Amino acid sequence: FSVENIRNFSIIAHVDHGKSTLADRLLELTGTIDKTKNNKQVLDKLQVERERGITVKAQTASLFYNCEGKQYLLNLIDTPGHVDFSYEVSRSLSACQGVLLVVDANEGIQAQTVANFFLAFEAQLSIIPVINKVDLKNADPERVEKQIEKVFDIPSDECIKISAKLGTNVERVLQAVIKRIPPPKVHRKNPLKALVFDSTFDQYRGVIANVALFDGVVSKGDKIVSAHTKKTYEVNEVGVLNPNEQPTHKLYAGQVGYLIAGMKDVTEAQIGDTLYLHKQPVEPLPGFKSAKPMVFAGMYPIDQSEYNNLKSAVEKLTINDSSVTVHRDSSLALGAGWRLGFLGLLHMEVFNQRLEQEYNASVILTTPTVPYKAVLSSAKLIKEYREKEITIINPAQFPDKSKVTEYLEPVVLGTIITPDEYTGKVMMLCQARRAVQKNMMYIDQNRVMLKYLFPLNEIVVDFYDSLKSLSSGYASFDYEDAGYQTAELVKMDILLNGNPVEELVTIVHNVKAYRKNVLAKCYGGDITRKMKLLKRQAEGKKKLRKIGNIEVPKDAFIKVLRTQ
Ligand code: GDP
Ligand code: MG
Repeated sequence: FSVENIRNFSIIAHVDHGKSTLADRLLELTGTIDKTKNNKQVLDKLQVERERGITVKAQTASLFYNCEGKQYLLNLIDTPGHVDFSYEVSRSLSACQGVLLVVDANEGIQAQTVANFFLAFEAQLSIIPVINKVDLKNADPERVEKQIEKVFDIPSDECIKISAKLGTNVERVLQAVIKRIPPPKVHRKNPLKALVFDSTFDQYRGVIANVALFDGVVSKGDKIVSAHTKKTYEVNEVGVLNPNEQPTHKLYAGQVGYLIAGMKDVTEAQIGDTLYLHKQPVEPLPGFKSAKPMVFAGMYPIDQSEYNNLKSAVEKLTINDSSVTVHRDSSLALGAGWRLGFLGLLHMEVFNQRLEQEYNASVILTTPTVPYKAVLSSAKLIKEYREKEITIINPAQFPDKSKVTEYLEPVVLGTIITPDEYTGKVMMLCQARRAVQKNMMYIDQNRVMLKYLFPLNEIVVDFYDSLKSLSSGYASFDYEDAGYQTAELVKMDILLNGNPVEELVTIVHNVKAYRKNVLAKCYGGDITRKMKLLKRQAEGKKKLRKIGNIEVPKDAFIKVLRTQ
């Protein structure tokens, strides 16, 4: 394929607006998969994706399409839409020149539509707006067109109105991909320059790296070098994803495909790494911003004899999901384990579920916490900790007030889109979560977009659920990292039958009135509720773990936190 006939694009959208369904239709139209009634979210391969009906991993597929007598190669990268996985979206985008921005014709622009649009816009990609689900009874594509014009400044005549479900107008989407998205800017004569934009681990074949070739050619037998580790490998296999792996002789600049090169250690295929030919080094491509974990939790095997199995499962899963950070940790009650960092609570639950389903591992997860910071007060302490500002990812290690001059908490900039009849309630909810309003804008006659600065710990657990329930499900929410702010923080111990449980320590914002009779007033009530919950959880659950003098079911920690 000459480069002029290649298009690399991604589909981005708010969750449930129809990305995966559109991908199915594109695969069918191009003959990549057979047209049967059973093609449902074909690219969602993971069991957890099928069960939850969401896309977690971005997937790649190469499609062949004939347009006006010319044969084109279209590389499609499907992406997840949930806020926790926006990291996957930006990774996918780095291998693309354009995107299909899918918007539901009934729901209109939602918070993640806005977030995803800006990811593509900042990456200077061509953006094709696609209004999906026009077959729905309540579809109002004209209204959505106007929203797109107002919020994104894209003329409404650029919108393509489709039904991914019925296949209506999907052909026009393919034509627009060819006409409006430029071919990749690459040089085949230059030495190889390949970007690793994703990697998966296969038990039998080792690491499979998904690559986008910016320059040059790579073939089986080539010696390649990782710019990150400087290690050399021999290429065993190259190929395209169709959407399953299909070996080819070579991969050329402009193509997206996979490469297997005997990388066995899961840390060897760094996402964002550049691969080049042995003795032909190139300037590495700019790596990605590494994913920043927003939620930390301890993870322990239910039974310490399972430690080594769990260790290898965690290692293998983190190669599939490099946004999880791993630190070794240990606890009195639970033994040796890890402290893991996740992008959000859903991300944490999905990781846990994948450990169980794909590796048959059972674990205990402790109360999630956000990464707080403390500025230490004395030179002696700074020497002891080896830095002035420490990050606390384990609440049990929270330094008390006598040791610090200032505590800091992470903050995020949140975007909320809601029908205006709920604006008052939404504002009250935000205030109750210590949020500061930054902006407010009508995106059409009766829908409002609000921007708030939130302390991260106020939204990480149940904010989304509260927002959904007060708006009858209509408000949507997305957020981005916004640094740190000063905060009054205190450590809160939780007692089970009179004994403090290190694994249940949490850090809370210091509300002064709570201070006096802490036990009687709030924790007393809280703990009874929690105890009841723990009991209820215990029923019907076989795997229990003794902590102190209480039996706690293995996933009760998340449930306990959720009920606060
Ligand atoms: P994703 O989260 O963006 O990948 O969305 P999915 O492709 O998984 O679709 C979410 C839901 O919307 C599924 O139940 C689809 O069947 C449904 N859906 C997708 N496209 C259409 C459409 O054009 N019309 C209708 N009525 N439903 C659709
Ligand atoms: Mg999907």
